[in-house]
Amino acid sequence: MEKLLISACLLGVNCKYNGKNNYNPLIEELKKKYELIPICPEVMGGLSIPRDPSEIKGDLVISNKGNDVTSNYLSGAYQALQLVGISNITKAVLKDGSPSCGSTYIYDGTFTKNKINGMGITAKLLKENNIIIYNENEIERLL
Ligand code: SF4
Repeated sequence: MEKLLISACLLGVNCKYNGKNNYNPLIEELKKKYELIPICPEVMGGLSIPRDPSEIKGDLVISNKGNDVTSNYLSGAYQALQLVGISNITKAVLKDGSPSCGSTYIYDGTFTKNKINGMGITAKLLKENNIIIYNENEIERLL
């Protein structure tokens, strides 16, 4: 069975910044076709659940309290890259809008819910390394 990297919150894991998840019922269909390999780059990078929400600002990731959490985000991203390398994974389904997992949009760094085109730190690193990224609205393309 082909392996597919997936944002753990889409599987129903309560790893979001607010301690909740982004469960998507289409995951049950994906499970029939792929071996799902869950990641949460923010937790892998050492951040807690719950944690302060953060947004990308230039080259940095900053929490809503002004803390620089860039190193945590980079650590999670590089661990995800290492995982796809050792597991021969070529595709990932990642939660859009996240400063880690976002693939088509992120928030603009002002904590005003304003969306901009862009990618999260992990999604960008994986894409740069030839992993094909799908978001939760594109799952049907994999079924
Ligand atoms: Fe979900 Fe990714 Fe955020 Fe973790 S970092 S909660 S997997 S969107």
